[in-house]
This record gives sequence, C-alpha cells and structure tokens, in this order.
Amino acid sequence: MAVTSHFLEGKRIIVVGGGIAGCTFVAALYKLWNPNLRLPEIIVLERDPRDVRPNNYSISLHGDSVNGGLVALRQLGLLDETLKHSIFGLRSGQFKMWDSNWKELMSTQPRPWGDLPTSSMRIQRSDLEQMLVMEAERANATFHWGVECTGAERLDNGRIRIAVEDETGVKDNHECDFLVVADGAQSKLRAALRPHDDLKYAGAVQIGGKAEFPHGIPEPIEENWGLLLSGKGVCCYFSAVDKDTVVWALSQQRPEPDTRTSVSTPDRFAVLKEEALRLGNMFSEPFRTIVESTSPSSAFVTAAMEKEPFRHDDPSLKRTVFIGDANHAVSAFAGNGANLALKDGWDLAENICHGSSLHNAVAAYDRLGFARAAEAIKSSHQKIDFAHCTSVKDSLLRAGLATGRWFMRLKGM
Ligand SMILES: Cc1cc2nc3c(=O)[nH]c(=O)nc-3n(C[C@H](O)[C@H](O)[C@H](O)COP(=O)(O)OP(=O)(O)OC[C@H]3O[C@@H](n4cnc5c(N)ncnc54)[C@H](O)[C@@H]3O)c2cc1C
Repeated sequence: MAVTSHFLEGKRIIVVGGGIAGCTFVAALYKLWNPNLRLPEIIVLERDPRDVRPNNYSISLHGDSVNGGLVALRQLGLLDETLKHSIFGLRSGQFKMWDSNWKELMSTQPRPWGDLPTSSMRIQRSDLEQMLVMEAERANATFHWGVECTGAERLDNGRIRIAVEDETGVKDNHECDFLVVADGAQSKLRAALRPHDDLKYAGAVQIGGKAEFPHGIPEPIEENWGLLLSGKGVCCYFSAVDKDTVVWALSQQRPEPDTRTSVSTPDRFAVLKEEALRLGNMFSEPFRTIVESTSPSSAFVTAAMEKEPFRHDDPSLKRTVFIGDANHAVSAFAGNGANLALKDGWDLAENICHGSSLHNAVAAYDRLGFARAAEAIKSSHQKIDFAHCTSVKDSLLRAGLATGRWFMRLKGM
C-alpha cells in the first residue's frame, strides 16, 4: 500500500551548523524523502559566512567498512566528485608508520568495503564542505549564514525555540518542530541543553603548523601520509594538504593540556619551533626542514579533546538530536570525526525517512551512531598510547607489527 503521510510532512526542521554533519543530513533527507509527500521546511543556521570557512586542513575519509565516510558519500551520490578532489589520487597515498630515520615500519592498505574503488583517501576539508553545502542548497534548504545560535528551549506546545545572534549583535529567534544540532565539538546548544556534558582532555598535546614547499614536498610524504615514531614518547604526524603544503603535528602525552592560545606572533612562533626541534631531535631529515619551512600564521598548539557519545532517551531531548562532533567529539588521533559526521547525517535522515515515528527513528539512529562513536573513541585511546610508546612498549610493538597483529587493530587509522 502506498505511504500517504509522514510524521514530519509539512513540519519545520532546523539544523544548527552547516558543517559536514549538518549538510549531510539535509542532503540525505532530500534524497531519501518520498517524492509523493510534502517536504518538511528545512532551515540551516550557520555561524560562519558562506564563503568564509576557517580552519582548512586535510582529512582522511575511510572506505574499509560500512562506517566509513566514503560509504555515506556514495549513498549521497557524491563519491565521484569527492574522488576528483583526492589529494593523492587513488593509486598512491597510503598511511605509513616510519621509525625516527624514516624507515618504513608499516603501511596500511585495507580492502575496500563492498565495491568501493578505494579504502581511504585524503581531501581538503574545504573541498568536502563546499560539495556538501552545494548539495544541501540543492535540497531547497534555506540557509541563514553568519548567524550564531546561542540557546534553545522547549515550548509548552512541544515546539523548540532557538535563540540566534547575527554578526552585528542583533538577536532573534526561530521555532521548529524538530531540531538537529550539528554545531561541532564546542557546541553552544549542547552547553545550553546538557551543561555537564563537556569536552575532556584525552592526554596528549600537539604542536605543529603548515610547511610550504613551492618546489615540491620532500619524500616520502609527497605521496603518503603518516606517523614518524620515536619510541621515546614523541611522535610526529605529516600529511600533504595540497601539492606545495604539508601539515605536521608533533605530539607528546602530558598530564595537563597546554594553555597557550596564539602561537603565531614572531616570538611565540620562535619558541614553538625551538620546542618542536628539541622534542623531535631524534628525527632525521626532512623533519628539521619541515619545521623550518613552517609559516608562522599556520602554527598551532592543540590539546586532544574528546567527548563520549550519548543517546537521546532523556525526555528533555524530545524532538532534538545531536549529530557529529556536537554529540561525540573525537580527538585528531582518531582521524575519524568527519567520517562519523557523514555517517551520522546519512543514518539520521534514512531512519527518519523510513521510520514510523520520530521516536522510533531516533532510537534506530542511536543504535547505529552511539556504538560507532564509542568504538572510535576507544580506538583513539589505543592510538594515543601506541603513537607515544616508550622503548619497552616500542619493542613489543615492533614484534606485534612483524606478526601483523597491530595491522588488524590499527587498520582504521
Ligand atoms: C587538524 C584536524 C585534523 C582532522 N583530521 C581528520 C581526519 O583525518 N579524518 C576525519 O574523519 N576527521 C578529522 N578531523 C575531525 C573532523 O574535522 C571533525 O570531526 C568534523 O569536522 C566534524 O564535523 P561536524 O559537522 O560534526 O562539525 P564541524 O565540522 O565542526 O561543523 C560544525 C558547524 O557548525 C557551525 N557552528 C558552530 N557553532 C555554531 C553556532 N553556535 N551556531 C551556528 N553554527 C555553529 C560551524 O561554523 C561549522 O560550520 C580532524 C580535525 C582537525 C581539527
């Protein structure tokens, strides 16, 4: 029998945050919606202006399991377009681990899931975001750019009111029947609705930046990305961002997060560079050259932060769903937050389009999203321990690598 109604037909959905998770949700809802039914009205409230998206870096997208972001992109019909932006193309670009002399310890090449053409690729975040925004705009969603959401409250009639403020400080509010919160790791709406559910320090600090190589990126990171391991509690991550630029991040486990905020002024940058060269003094060239070629404006210090996922069974969250980093932030060591955001967006839309009620759809989404994020956080802890191992652990690790056991445990990296 033909379906003649849907619980969100003609209702208003507000999506807070037009990033990876938010735009994926909008695009997926439009793609999966029964064309015989009236679409819900979809409004996206995004803090940044449309074409000014800060924080560009490269991210790895996985396609080695059903939980990979490449699976969601194929479901959205965006896989071919995504692959066109692949930094390394399809044939090269493996995740490698090297010792301090750049001798290869391991290279991961998991099998692609199903008939995907690759099990992983790297893309600039801005390219991925741009594609998703355009797809969400095609979905007839109304975007309000440059509008920051500052809070939300449930009204007596069951609807939700969202408070917003624009760039000039003008305050306003919007009401909706269903709220999707996708405003990232520092979610303002999570702070308002779940004030005790904040980010926690995951025990490691990274310092780094982007190094410019106008005449070509040095080997072996011109074709691969990965980790330089010292076995002395320090490691360094490298990945090309484009054909001239490499992002690097040297890290160490520390009891407390680093409190430095800006490190791009000349004197602070000099201190950061000196610190990197001292901590990484066991690493052979091109480590020093990369650090020396870093542009001050790109320098950063970041503490690995994370937040366990939560389900939406709390009655105060009725008609509200948190997806992506707003629900479960994973640290950069997971290398998985964008993959989770893509899958969350797709899964929530799919369960809504095929569900019999909002309650059932959200419960079905929670079963997928919660388990996936909990596993990613567990795996990121293993990666932090492993990447900063000291010599004793290191030798055990090398023995493990030789028998291939670590390969199985780290294949999501
Ligand atoms: C250096 C680095 C490297 C990374 N590498 C990888 C990787 O290799 N692989 C991987 O999978 N992941 C990686 N990640 C993680 C990944 O980028 C994030 O997990 C992902 O962007 C989360 O997507 P999201 O949509 O949930 O949040 P975001 O991408 O943060 O999007 C949130 C959106 O909400 C908007 N917003 C924020 N606050 C408000 C507000 N109050 N009102 C309205 N709008 C708001 C923001 O402007 C933004 O557009 C990396 C992250 C970093 C920092």
